[in-house]
Amino acid sequence: MKRTDLLHIVQKHGAPVYAYDSNKIISQFNRLTDAFKGVNNLRLNYAAKALSNLAILRLMNSLGSGLDTVSIQEVKLGLLAGFKPESIIYTPNGVSLEEIEEAAALGVQINIDNLSILEQFGAKHPDIPVCIRINPHVMAGGNSNISVGHIDSKFGISIHQIPHLLRIVELTNMNINGIHMHTGSDILDIDVFLYASEILFETAKNFKNLDFIDFGSGFKVPYREGDIQTNIEELGKKLTTRFNEFCSAYGKDLTLAFEPGKFLVSEAGHFLAKVNVVKQTTSTVFASVDSGFNHLIRPMLYGSAHEIVNISNPKGRERYYSVVGYICETDTFGNNRRINEISEGDILCFKNAGAYCFTMASNYNSRYRPAEVLWHEGKAYLIRERETFDDILNKQVDQKELFEPKKEKAAAK
Ligand SMILES: *Cc1c(COP(=O)(O)O)cnc(C)c1O
Repeated sequence: MKRTDLLHIVQKHGAPVYAYDSNKIISQFNRLTDAFKGVNNLRLNYAAKALSNLAILRLMNSLGSGLDTVSIQEVKLGLLAGFKPESIIYTPNGVSLEEIEEAAALGVQINIDNLSILEQFGAKHPDIPVCIRINPHVMAGGNSNISVGHIDSKFGISIHQIPHLLRIVELTNMNINGIHMHTGSDILDIDVFLYASEILFETAKNFKNLDFIDFGSGFKVPYREGDIQTNIEELGKKLTTRFNEFCSAYGKDLTLAFEPGKFLVSEAGHFLAKVNVVKQTTSTVFASVDSGFNHLIRPMLYGSAHEIVNISNPKGRERYYSVVGYICETDTFGNNRRINEISEGDILCFKNAGAYCFTMASNYNSRYRPAEVLWHEGKAYLIRERETFDDILNKQVDQKELFEPKKEKAAAK
């Protein structure tokens, strides 16, 4: 997407606004598919929670992606967007048996990540195939940043509990058709990831009726220059070889599944906000935009460094700014960033704003959530309207008769 395309979107739909480039999503999807072209059955299940707008889900479906969901609501969104139930995997954590049964009744692939629910579900529905989520407990060099599925993670069934798991499967006579891991950490070191995969293969040998092995996600994309990113092509080569070997030994061509979220949509997203105030203090120049962590919480929540560009003044002299929001709370987007000179009214573009940005937006400070626009084949399509005051009031029950102002009571006498 060009700078002028982004400005055009702001002109047409106002700011703040999220703009997504369908081209980038498609090229990321193809890149991942190409990296694993040596696998007979590859399945990419897009992780809906990264960006769950219906238009994005429909785009993914049209590419041949499946869908990874973490709530019954995401399952329903996926079905509404045209995914077949069998293309949806439901991978929740800590949800009730009732919600899992509801998802199973819709025909989606169930993935269970604790023994208590596995035992209850298996006893009641031995005929419904279930995938199990394993926690491989791999630590690399003691650095928790590059560890996968660490010991105190709430996700997955510990590999140390496999004997208990097998007992449940045997006693309930349930059908385990998939093995899964998703560690939540970034894949920085391919060898660490491959090591965790070995544990998954080892676990898989215990089950005779598998259809797929799901390696989750964790593909890292660069946020700023010099950032480490996952070498997808190298991972593709190495894991493909190992996976095909495993399938030969297992005696069946299994499906290799991934659930990428960030990798597919992060770089496709641009968050565009207008500068309300440029404020010089004794130590800093602040640029305050018409947004805050109510719209983009990642910098405050995770310390994510989203690159910030002044698209209104691309040739301006570079100066240092702290870019902040308009929320009555500290909501810094970036400290001491070198940005082309900013004037009030300029449009700033926050990059890598596709994944976990809009989906984490809120109405804090009673502000409206932004509009979303999809840039597709040279045109801007509105895919979510900006909220209005009605959305702030929506679902509130105004019990006004409970609290009549004192004065009015006196006047009524
Ligand atoms: C969030 C999530 C993903 C996606 O992770 P990314 O880092 O965005 O690729 C995949 N699988 C599961 C089970 C998830 O919860």
